Amino acid sequence: MEFLRPLTWADALAAKAGQPAAVPIQGGTDVMVEINFDVHRPAALLDLNPVRELAEYETLPDGTLRIGAGVPYVRLIAELGDRLPGLAQASRTVGSPQIRNRGTVGGNLGAASPAGDSHPPLLASDAVIEAESSARGTRLIPAVDFYKGVKRNALEPDELIRAIRIAPASGPQYFSKIGTRNAMVIAVCSFAIALHPAERRVGTGVGSAAPTPRRATAAEEFLSAELDWDGRGPLSVSAAQRFGELVREAAAPIDDVRGTADYRKHALSVMARRTLTWAWNDYRATREEAS
Ligand SMILES: Cc1cc2nc3c(=O)[nH]c(=O)nc-3n(C[C@H](O)[C@H](O)[C@H](O)COP(=O)(O)OP(=O)(O)OC[C@H]3O[C@@H](n4cnc5c(N)ncnc54)[C@H](O)[C@@H]3O)c2cc1C
Repeated sequence: MEFLRPLTWADALAAKAGQPAAVPIQGGTDVMVEINFDVHRPAALLDLNPVRELAEYETLPDGTLRIGAGVPYVRLIAELGDRLPGLAQASRTVGSPQIRNRGTVGGNLGAASPAGDSHPPLLASDAVIEAESSARGTRLIPAVDFYKGVKRNALEPDELIRAIRIAPASGPQYFSKIGTRNAMVIAVCSFAIALHPAERRVGTGVGSAAPTPRRATAAEEFLSAELDWDGRGPLSVSAAQRFGELVREAAAPIDDVRGTADYRKHALSVMARRTLTWAWNDYRATREEAS
């Protein structure tokens, strides 16, 4: 097996263009498992760890965060958790401390598993994936267009993920995940919500309940119109109930070893109601403080 070790981003893109079949490796927490279990034996590995830019993040002039694909979960939680609470909550549920030390959102996107924990909060926050190739330069792909099928994403063979672009939270965000135990577990299903008060809009992300992570669009539209953004009142039981139903209807899960389709749908409606209640209570509290 050939081992390519570019030292710069330009060299990494050139290496990928020269050998499109080379498998990028960042934290290796997916790639090495597949190699160890002989799922794949790629002709070449493209080690991105020496590429310093991938491990950095910055704030763009419009306030958007641009997070290098190689920033590990542990740094995302510690250094960006205040600005990205939904993504940080999801990151805290990934694997174990060892996995969070090595694993990255870039790798989660590269693997594109429907159960990947970063996907629901990325969808709820309208994140954009920055892909790049040496031939065509930068391509900005909204998260909602990135997931193409089970473990398939929108990257072309000569492209690499450079960064994730995501706006800092402008309102409450929550992530909830059901597993067969409390840690080191792949999601049976998961759900993320983000309130965007300035736009009077709600974002959602549903994980592990369809061939790809997806938004619950009808639920978002219903709730965005239903919430009393200027008021301070509690959430109406009927609105929370209907939101849960619409999230459930957005899912298209299967029965598998982790759970049945019926269980996943039920769990999603419960998680949707719960996370909405937490988010709305936080929103009301900030309005109380502001008045
Ligand atoms: C014990 C264990 C527990 C786990 N628990 C969880 C969990 O709870 N939740 C969860 O979501 N995942 C979990 N995972 C899976 C894995 O840790 C995550 O998917 C992680 O985000 C992968 O990141 P990585 O940097 O290690 O990726 P890698 O293994 O390096 O790469 C993963 C994929 O992304 C591609 N890739 C990496 N970087 C780039 C790039 N810049 N451009 C293009 N493609 C790229 C690789 O080629 C590969 O296809 C677990 C894995 C293990 C071994």
